[in-house]
Amino acid sequence: MAPALSVAPNVYDAEPIPEAARAEIDRLLQSGDLFRYTAPEDAPVALLEREFADLMGSKYALAVSSCSAAIFLSLRALDLAPGARVLIPAFTFAAVPSAVVHANCQPVLVEVADNYRIDIDDFAARLDDDISAVIISHMRGHTSDMDAIMALAAARGIPVIEDAAHSLGTLWHGRKIGTIGAIGCFSFQSYKLVNAGEGGILITDDADLVARAVIMSGAYEHNWKKHAVKNGGPDGQNDPELELAFARWQNMLPLYNMRMQNLSAAVIRPQLPEVARRVRDGRANHDYVADRLNASAWIEVPDALGPEERAPDSIQFNLVDMPSDDHARAFADAAAARGVKVQVFGLSTDNARAFWNWNFIPGERPELPQTRAMLMRACDVRLPARLQKPDLDFIAGALIGAAEDVMGEETRAYGT
Ligand SMILES: *Cc1c(COP(=O)(O)O)cnc(C)c1O
Repeated sequence: MAPALSVAPNVYDAEPIPEAARAEIDRLLQSGDLFRYTAPEDAPVALLEREFADLMGSKYALAVSSCSAAIFLSLRALDLAPGARVLIPAFTFAAVPSAVVHANCQPVLVEVADNYRIDIDDFAARLDDDISAVIISHMRGHTSDMDAIMALAAARGIPVIEDAAHSLGTLWHGRKIGTIGAIGCFSFQSYKLVNAGEGGILITDDADLVARAVIMSGAYEHNWKKHAVKNGGPDGQNDPELELAFARWQNMLPLYNMRMQNLSAAVIRPQLPEVARRVRDGRANHDYVADRLNASAWIEVPDALGPEERAPDSIQFNLVDMPSDDHARAFADAAAARGVKVQVFGLSTDNARAFWNWNFIPGERPELPQTRAMLMRACDVRLPARLQKPDLDFIAGALIGAAEDVMGEETRAYGT
């Protein structure tokens, strides 16, 4: 048996970047070739786009500066009218409503249940003909009921954008998350499965959408020609549908310059073959800790939905039967004293995932009692795929012990 750890595992450090990145970065530094459109073909960013599209089984990919930029460009690619209403979950990262506001649209928030997934009844109720698009954030990798969402959206002809920033490797009925909606957006920010510091990518099978997004991302003049080869096909054939789309939008769209540079692609590409392993280890780690936590009377890790195969690098759980916010705070303090940092989403000051802090959204302050109640008891703990069993035991033990510290006393005091 592995010895018990006496110090808390470091859950913040990322994995080292694969060694293969080094030679490519050196080559780029030597040549100074950092801009994606300098090389006539096969720039690292263009190669990344083809590799990522192949990995996901989608027709097109566009690498950009962040997932937020990918979401913004997706909304602009859909050509929504100024002020268009866009449905988003009330539990997401502030970057999502921000991208909607940036695209000159109005975010409309939907209730999220205590399993962190969109409340489908509330979604159906708010999805009226005044809604022009839907963004589904698979928050912390939790997948909402995509069957219901796609059916409801399709019935009204409303496009769905998947914010899969934190869901690379997640499956729904065996289908890759990010390939279900019209567009899928992913992040390469350091806390996500693939780490380039910053970066994002969008995928789609729609030539018109990707042509618009490519141009607006900053493919000025005829730089779109460097996007025209379809999936690097062996004959290097151009995709006629895509060429027509580029011709249609030439000079018709603003340039927002949200391009990715070659160094980022050099850091990302050698991580793509690591994705499957990170997903496998992250899921095993998560499920091991979830099983242990569920044995506590005061902690509940919600189940995945039936069709969902998760790719977690963190764990979320609810505090149950804790009578007050002070108890939940005391739990977080007790866990910290035991060496594990817990964030209760709704209780930390200025949390960017608490909808009541999104004061930049124009109009009335929405109230979403169900989501609010969930956020007041929902906890977040990082659980990177590289952790080993003694690390996991330390974290699970600290969390169970912290709940006991706070609630055990109480139960003993009043339980007799
Ligand atoms: C990280 C994250 C984003 C933002 O990604 P960036 O690449 O940092 O812009 C958006 N949505 C979700 C759900 C995220 O986790």
